[in-house]
Amino acid sequence: MLRNVTLEEISDGKLYRSNDTVKADCQDCKGCSECCRGMDDTVVLDPLDVHRISVHLQKKPEELLASCFELGFVDGILLPHMSMKGDDESCVFLNSEGRCSIHSCRPGYCRMFPLGRYFKDETFYYILQIHECPLKGRTKIKIKKWLDTPDLKEYEEFVLSWHSFLRDIHILLSESENETLFDQMNRYIVGRFYVQPYDPGQNFYEQFKERLKEGRGLLE
Ligand code: SF4
Ligand code: SF4
Repeated sequence: MLRNVTLEEISDGKLYRSNDTVKADCQDCKGCSECCRGMDDTVVLDPLDVHRISVHLQKKPEELLASCFELGFVDGILLPHMSMKGDDESCVFLNSEGRCSIHSCRPGYCRMFPLGRYFKDETFYYILQIHECPLKGRTKIKIKKWLDTPDLKEYEEFVLSWHSFLRDIHILLSESENETLFDQMNRYIVGRFYVQPYDPGQNFYEQFKERLKEGRGLLE
């Protein structure tokens, strides 16, 4: 998501890698669930998030898109995000105890929080957002431990390739006035990368790479 802010405005100004240590550990959040409420359309989901939640809940991506996720435009591209519901606009997966009911397969955005990603020169860094989590006394933790994500190297490659793909589509669509292309591309992304299930018995990343190759071919 493109944001018109400086690093210094939103973070401690430093760029981190997954082997670095950072004051992000909220120690089980101590009863707080603030970042699971009122997030509007910002908990944007990537194809792995939808695949993981779909397998965990044994629900087709299509069913999830009709119930737990919503579609919205991010930099002109239609992408799913977590639905926020009720008077306090809480995430549909926040339970009555204020805990995440899908903790083991929570999206990448939630795994990182209060960290964020900063994309620069065909790579990305982690940043520590300073206005997002109100908990005082967060302790230091190695980023790779905080992310709690298996096969982190592959995951980070996936994050980068997905981001680059979306960036290139954004450039294409913003330079074109062809509304048909806009509709077709958005339908293709949602249908091919999110709605069409990935085989849970096969490696997700390999399947994603195949689809990405196809998508890149269409971009050409
Ligand atoms: S705002 Fe911070 S302490 Fe509160 S739930 Fe989110 S990460 Fe945990
Ligand atoms: S998926 Fe879980 S951690 Fe993420 S916003 Fe929803 S309840 Fe919070």
